[in-house]
Amino acid sequence: MVSGFFSEEKVSEVRERASILEVVSDHVTLKKTGRNYKGLCPFHSEKTPSFMVNEEKQIFHCFGCGEGGDVFTFLIKVGHFSFPQAVEELARRYGIKLPPKELSPAQKKDLAKRDLLFQINQASSDYYHDLLTRQKEGEGARRYLSQRGIREETIQAYRLGCSLDRWDGLVRYLEGKNLSLEMARELGLVFPKKKEGWYDAFRGRIIFPILDLYQRVVGFGGRVIKEGDPKYLNSPESAIYHKGEILYGLHEAKRLLPAEDQVLIVEGYFDLLTLHQYGFKQSVATLGTALTPEHVRTLKRYTNNFITVFDGDSAGVQAALRSFPLFLEGEVWGETVVLPKGEDPDGFLRKRSRDAFEKMIEKRIPLIDFFLEERMKSRNSRSVEEKVKVAKEGLGLIRRIPEGIRRSLYLKTLAEKLDLQEAMLQTLLGSSPKEPQKEMGAPKPQGREETFSRSEVMVISLIVQHPELIPTLSAERLWDQFESLTLRKIGEDLERLYQKRGSLDLPSVIETLDEGLKAKVREMVFREGAPEGDMKKMLRDCIQKIHEREFKKDQQDRLRKIREVEKQKEERALESLLIDHQKHARKETEA
Ligand SMILES: [Zn+2]
Repeated sequence: MVSGFFSEEKVSEVRERASILEVVSDHVTLKKTGRNYKGLCPFHSEKTPSFMVNEEKQIFHCFGCGEGGDVFTFLIKVGHFSFPQAVEELARRYGIKLPPKELSPAQKKDLAKRDLLFQINQASSDYYHDLLTRQKEGEGARRYLSQRGIREETIQAYRLGCSLDRWDGLVRYLEGKNLSLEMARELGLVFPKKKEGWYDAFRGRIIFPILDLYQRVVGFGGRVIKEGDPKYLNSPESAIYHKGEILYGLHEAKRLLPAEDQVLIVEGYFDLLTLHQYGFKQSVATLGTALTPEHVRTLKRYTNNFITVFDGDSAGVQAALRSFPLFLEGEVWGETVVLPKGEDPDGFLRKRSRDAFEKMIEKRIPLIDFFLEERMKSRNSRSVEEKVKVAKEGLGLIRRIPEGIRRSLYLKTLAEKLDLQEAMLQTLLGSSPKEPQKEMGAPKPQGREETFSRSEVMVISLIVQHPELIPTLSAERLWDQFESLTLRKIGEDLERLYQKRGSLDLPSVIETLDEGLKAKVREMVFREGAPEGDMKKMLRDCIQKIHEREFKKDQQDRLRKIREVEKQKEERALESLLIDHQKHARKETEA
C-alpha cells in the first residue's frame, strides 16, 4: 500500500482499531447475515442488497458493481478523502496518535493551506454565529429571522449567523486571531481595498454556513437583511468548496434519506430550513447552481427517488426540466411537485400548513409527464407533425437511459402521452444514431464470469481465511497445476506475501494485488458457506483432487496422443491403399 505520509505499521494500527462496521454504517444501513453484514450499495443503485461488510477481515465488497476494499478505501470513495486524510480522519475518530507527518515540501504546503482555509471558514462562522445569537448588534437579524419563521433550534442546528452593516467586522476579527486575510480572500470572505488593507465581503446579511458531510464549513451564503443587491451572495469556488458537489442540508438529511427512500430537492436556503422545520427532513437544497451529475451521484447513495420542489414560476419550471435528463442518465426516478404560480416551498408551507404541503407531494407527477406536457404546451399544437417533433426530443432523452426496463417504461409513457403508436416510436428509437452513453451508473464487473474449478476456489478460499495453512501448500507445487490463471496468480501472490511477512494482513495484502484480482479475493472472503471444520484435511483433500485431476489429464493427454498416432498411421495406410488402388485401376485401363 502506498501510505505516503505514514508508516505501514501506523496505517495497519489505524485500520485495526477502526471499525469498518461503524464507518460504513454512517452511510449504509447494514443488517447481519451470517458472518457478514449486508446493505444497499452506496456506489451503485440497487433494490436488493449486494453490498457486504466483513467485520473480522475489515473489508467490504459489492457483488453488484465490484467496488470494495478496506475502511480507508471506503472513506476515500464515499467522502472524497485523500488517503492521508482518511488515515487522519480515522485516527481522530478512534483516538490514535499519529506521528508528525513526513511530507514533501509541496505536500506540506498544500495540506497546511487546506487546513488553514477550513480554519478561517470555521472562525468566520463562529464570528457570524456569535453576532446573531449573543451580540446586541444582531438584534435586527434576529428579528428578521423570526419574521421569516426561523426557530431558535434551527439557528443552532444550521449554525446561522449574521454580518454587520460595516466594512471591517470580519477583517478585524480575523486579524485579531492572526489568520491570513490573503487566504480569507481566496475564500471570498474579504476583498482588498484599492490602496491598502481589506474589507468584508458579507455585510448586513443573514449568513448560512455551508457544511460538507463531515460538518466542515466549506463556504457561505448571505441573504441581505434590509434592501440591496445582490439579494444573495455566495462564496466562490475554492480549494475546499466545489459547488457542483455540495448540497445544502445534506449533513442533516443524510440519516433520514434511506428510511424515507426519497429526497426532496429545493432551491433556496429558506426553502430548506422551513421544510426541515415542518418535519420534511428528507430535503436538500441546490443553492442557485443547477443540479449536476455529482449531486445526483451523491444523493443516489441514499435513495433512487428524487422529487424536485422548485418555485412555481418559469425559472422553477426550467430548473425542473433541466434536471430531467440528469435523472435519466443517473438512473433515478424523477418526479416533481408543481406549486401554484408565484409560490415557493417556504412561502407555501408558512401560508398554509404541513398537511397542505403533504398533499402537494402526494400529487407529484413523474418528470417525464411534466416534460411532455410542458413541451406540448410550448408548441401549442396538437398536429401529428408537432407530436413527432416532441417525440424525437423525448427519444433523444430516452436514448440516454442506460437501463433496459426503464427505457421501455419511458417509451410507453411517451407513446401514451403523445397518442402515438409505441411500435412507431420503437422504430424511431432504433433507427436514429445512438448518442454516446455517458458513464454514470455503476461500473459493471468486467467481462463474463470466469468459471472456476471447485477445488481451486476452495484452496484459495481456505488460505484467504486461514493464511497459516500456506506453508502446507508450499511443498506441493500446486499452482502450476491450477487451470485458472486468475486463481493461480492470486495463490502465488498470497504465498509470496506470506513468506515475506510471516503473516497475511488481508486488507493490505489485497491492496498489493493486481486491480483485477482484488475483487476476486474479496469475493472469496464473502463467499457463502465458507469452509469450516478441519481446515488442514480440507486443504489436503483439495490438493489431492487437483493432483488427481492433473494426473488424469496427463493420462488423457497420452491416450489422445496415442490415438492421434494411430489415426495418422491409419491415414497413411489408407493413403497407400488408395495409391495402390489407383495404380491398379490405371493398369486396368491401360490394359
Ligand atoms: Zn455496488
